[in-house]
Amino acid sequence: MPRHTVAKIDLDALRHNYRLAQHKAGEASAMAVVKADGYGHGIRTVARALSADAPCFAVACLEEALAIRDEGLSQPIVLLEGMHAREDVVTCARLGLEPVIHSDYQLAWLEQADVRVSVWVKVNSGMNRLGFRAEDLAGVMSRLQGWDVRGFMTHFAAADDLASSATTRQTRYFERAVVPWPEALLSVGNSAAHFRPDQPLYHWSRPGIMLYGASPRADCDGGDLGLKAVMTLEAELIAVRTLNPGDSVGYGETWRAQTPTRMGIVAIGYGDGYPRHAGTGTPAAVNGQRIELIGRVSMDMLAVNLSAAPEAKPGDKVELWGDQVPVDEVARHAGTIGYELLTGITVRVPRVYHQQGRGGAA
Ligand SMILES: *Cc1c(COP(=O)(O)O)cnc(C)c1O
Repeated sequence: MPRHTVAKIDLDALRHNYRLAQHKAGEASAMAVVKADGYGHGIRTVARALSADAPCFAVACLEEALAIRDEGLSQPIVLLEGMHAREDVVTCARLGLEPVIHSDYQLAWLEQADVRVSVWVKVNSGMNRLGFRAEDLAGVMSRLQGWDVRGFMTHFAAADDLASSATTRQTRYFERAVVPWPEALLSVGNSAAHFRPDQPLYHWSRPGIMLYGASPRADCDGGDLGLKAVMTLEAELIAVRTLNPGDSVGYGETWRAQTPTRMGIVAIGYGDGYPRHAGTGTPAAVNGQRIELIGRVSMDMLAVNLSAAPEAKPGDKVELWGDQVPVDEVARHAGTIGYELLTGITVRVPRVYHQQGRGGAA
């Protein structure tokens, strides 16, 4: 019997979240961002589950696009980092992939290719990660003459922060930069941009994290934005005992019982991708009760205080995050964001998929 440490994936919740993104996108269409193995949920199953709704997918790199094509899905796929090698141009042409061109060396590869692909042009509107500045665009576009340029893309540095003026500044910069090409499609919005009042999303938005039910913002959880948790991370209680006052728990003896304390050991740790920085007080749930971690997370196990759930016994299932415990809340306790937790679940944890009464492992 394999141990019961699983990431249950609710594909109906995934579709609910995609439809919310599409609704929030208004006139724009939403390309489903499924990079990083579908934010840890399994790119193949995620893409298949969204394929009836999503007119386009976006990924970071070629390998991810190949996985989607391998599933027999024929939507356009945008490569957000463009080509990583000269020969990728041929693969893009063969498989209908749309690379985002952000640098001169990629333009040179295109000029030397004897195939044609549809491309996007990345505009650096202030994030200073990838893209061309406004004054370079005329030169870029003249080098792309004869190519199908789908449009222009930019990325926001602080769309998650409603108090920051960066998004307005970047939007203005982008709009001015693309004035000479009124026919081009425009794409600016990550998940956070869908929740900014009055933010234009133009033709294509690019929701990622929101599809998986986690919040793109620090000031609220996914549920507050109308999102449903897609992944429920679950593991079994494998030992239960009562500590005497003065007894410590785990490596470094960082937590010590003050009073007689019922506690349990759960079969999950940082070797599964559960964050080691989640300290004492990080929430979990057992049998519908909220409980808290105590002591240090080890590689294969962690400890919980069962004072709030005294009936809990070996074999009971503990939710580390999911419907009852927002991944965003665990992330705050671990000093990180839901993105990192979801993408960090390791291959040791099987993903088990559910939709409308159907189940299955992959
Ligand atoms: C990852 C990514 C997105 C999606 O961002 P979320 O915050 O997950 O919605 C959109 N655009 C680009 C360019 C990205 O790299």
